[in-house]
Amino acid sequence: MTKEKSNSSEISKIAVLTSGGDAPGMNAAIRSVARSAAFHKIACLGINQGYQGLIENKIKQLGPRAVNNIINKGGTILKSARSNEFRTKAGRKKAYENLKKHGIEALVVIGGDGSFTGGLIFQQEFGVPVIGIPGTIDNDIYGTSHTIGYDTALNTVVEAVDKIRDTAISHNRLFFVEVMGRDAGHIALNSGIGAGAEEILIPEEDMGLERLLESLKRSKKSGKLSSIVMVAEGDKIGKNVFELAEYIEDNLPAYEIRVSVLGHMQRGGAPSCFDRVLASRMGLRAVEALRDGISGNMVGISDGNMILTPLEKAIKGKSKIDNELVRVSEIMRL
Ligand code: ATP
Repeated sequence: MTKEKSNSSEISKIAVLTSGGDAPGMNAAIRSVARSAAFHKIACLGINQGYQGLIENKIKQLGPRAVNNIINKGGTILKSARSNEFRTKAGRKKAYENLKKHGIEALVVIGGDGSFTGGLIFQQEFGVPVIGIPGTIDNDIYGTSHTIGYDTALNTVVEAVDKIRDTAISHNRLFFVEVMGRDAGHIALNSGIGAGAEEILIPEEDMGLERLLESLKRSKKSGKLSSIVMVAEGDKIGKNVFELAEYIEDNLPAYEIRVSVLGHMQRGGAPSCFDRVLASRMGLRAVEALRDGISGNMVGISDGNMILTPLEKAIKGKSKIDNELVRVSEIMRL
């Protein structure tokens, strides 16, 4: 853990922003940061539109009453953004000038690894203490078993696939369902098991087209009339979901095939209880870390406990797929 004893007990004003892709539960994290800060008599400001808003001075008070009635809301009341200007030294200098203008002494960044990279560079350049909170539905961050938004996204996918299954059964169809996950198959693997998918294609494992075809042929022979194939966006076979479906249809005409791309609906909706609790815990830990003089770290959860991981490690490390889950998914397809 990087412990930088700077201003520790003297910290009197912090700011929070959300950056990168939005995720359900970000609001619960914002609320927690605002209220934890108030509890510790630290003033809290909210920055609109991530790093871009910091550059453009979109900064407002975020007292404990400003975050009423948001714990149940998806998205982020602070809005999120991707900022190319913040990737430049000149952009970050403008951001720093605005922080100084408001007397902000430390920053809580809620986002993914890109946001943490920007935050770490900012801290190194200007000495502003930064603490990260992982908010992304992909769960692809090292240093935490769960990111904020992941659990909600899993539930959203399972609910959608349950509905797709109803129509698949009624028409004896094979459905290819694409879910988010360019680099990580956590959503596909977990929601695939939860929704009873026949096959799960993830970026971490190369099943191969022929094995997929053979497996689907076998299950057809064994009496399955309809099936769900869960496909992560970045699956290793390297074909998009429509090309995959076409290949299987050409080679397994016994099945009528349909494709469903769940898309951005996976990001939205009210956060699950798990995500609300996780976000509340992480927000408090982030504020207390800053109060204790700790910076350059990300808050995470491991075995149910709040932990801190240096941002550098969180950025560079790889979140791993659980092989036990892969085994479960393979046996459940029988
Ligand atoms: P998600 O996982 O949802 O994509 P993310 O935080 O990884 O979230 P990015 O778009 O990669 O999303 O990064 C968010 C923002 O962080 C960028 O728009 C940019 O402003 C800032 N950022 C990312 N990388 C850097 C960098 N190398 N230097 C400075 N700023 C960066």
